Amino acid sequence: MLQLKDAGLFRQRCYIDGKWTAGDAADEFDVINPSSGAKLGVMTGIGETGAKQAVDAAENASNIWRHMTARQRSRRLMRWHKLIMENQDDLAVIMTAEQGKPLLESKGEIAYSASFVEWFAEEAVRIYGDVIPSHERESRLIVLKEPVGVCAAITPWNFPSAMITRKAAPALAAGCSIIVKPASQTPFSATALAELSRRAGIPEGVFNVICGDSEKIGNVLTRNEKVRKFSFTGSTETGSKLMEQCAGSIKKISLELGGNAPFIVFDDADIDAAVAGAMASKYRNTGQTCVCANRILVQNGIYDEFSKKLLKAVQSLIVGDGFTENVTQGPLIDMNAVKKVESHIADAQSKGAEILTGGRRHSLGGTFFEPTVLADTTSDMKIFSEETFGPVAPLFKFDTEEEAVKMANDTQYGLASYFYSKDSARIWRVSEGLEYGMVGINTGIISAAAAPFGGMKQSGIGREGSKYGIDEYLEIKYLCMGNVYG
Ligand code: ADP
Repeated sequence: MLQLKDAGLFRQRCYIDGKWTAGDAADEFDVINPSSGAKLGVMTGIGETGAKQAVDAAENASNIWRHMTARQRSRRLMRWHKLIMENQDDLAVIMTAEQGKPLLESKGEIAYSASFVEWFAEEAVRIYGDVIPSHERESRLIVLKEPVGVCAAITPWNFPSAMITRKAAPALAAGCSIIVKPASQTPFSATALAELSRRAGIPEGVFNVICGDSEKIGNVLTRNEKVRKFSFTGSTETGSKLMEQCAGSIKKISLELGGNAPFIVFDDADIDAAVAGAMASKYRNTGQTCVCANRILVQNGIYDEFSKKLLKAVQSLIVGDGFTENVTQGPLIDMNAVKKVESHIADAQSKGAEILTGGRRHSLGGTFFEPTVLADTTSDMKIFSEETFGPVAPLFKFDTEEEAVKMANDTQYGLASYFYSKDSARIWRVSEGLEYGMVGINTGIISAAAAPFGGMKQSGIGREGSKYGIDEYLEIKYLCMGNVYG
């Protein structure tokens, strides 16, 4: 059993219309601790009928929530933020148990998750409209911003808490209700958030969490006409499918999909800083983030020094159970993840890459994998064009700045990118040349509630966080008032 200060946070049921639902035995599923392989709990799921009930409840709630004042909504979100932070330790324990990341990283994610709630609580009271200078003497043009209505979100397992608040907080701040379908691997971080939303006084039906067969639930959330906005974080493949399903009812959509982040180190970089940045970007969450450095491009002149220093840093990583002190690398989420990592390594090796360290399943067994560095990787390898989502750093060599930018952009993805350089002219040229929604310059960590997170190309549509994030949950209504002098 989990050691929680407040056992009431561990909820194994869906939260619909302010109630913990009994669900249907046919939709129950086990949740496994990826570190030990032991059963952590049984999540009660719902089917299509339950999902429709959640949509109806969210619709009723939306009609009440949208008419509260912005300040009333903001206060409730502030309370939710406070409760999340007060329960940071317990929420981190739940997360490490179901996702596997080291406890310190889980605590960090809870703070990051809460920061979206705080940020959008503040934004709730600053949703301004416009008065537009009119084209006619006696008319007035006014823009109102209104909540879109019922929203639905499907979220992934790699950030079981933050990916929920990044969608739910702006939705609620805007005056919308939301139904969240978390990943089946990590439902308990989601239900714990639901419990805290209840304690924060967020009215019933405004924030709902449902689990079950993802295709069946996905069908309801993407096709039901009452759902006006659909937001998804996950793979490009699933995102594309869900986008098609949304087409029938012309929903507003936001998609945050896969990445293939280049991490470029130029000859003029501070090498130690670049190594530290690469470690943070590549190995955080055992390489399972969509903004993880996927390809490390290193200029010829510093390739040897950089690879030596990176190797040393990677060899100091500690693999193990996320609850064990000093562990920096938890397990991969499941065996499919292990197989993908292995296939990328095998493909690279067969085409001439050299394994500098790691390359195998870890002796701890299960889904633990050795932190790996590959040298002499080239653009014909799978690892160049596909997202690895694991602890593998492939090193690619390049000669010129132009070549590096061309290699970086040679992908269908456009989420995060990174580069290290001290030359200010180069910093501008490369920043503007990269076809990516986000560029980290001399840093490997870019995420913040105040910053717009999102991708170009097949990495997605829309932005989350920041002042832009709330627009995704608002409609623009234009009023044209004629003959105002009567
Ligand atoms: P990942 O590789 O991160 O699991 P997915 O895109 O498969 O990426 O999953 C992200 C989220 O999408 C999860 O909540 C998962 O349950 C959900 N999902 C996967 N396939 C479907 C589908 N066909 N319909 C609806 N949701 C889906």
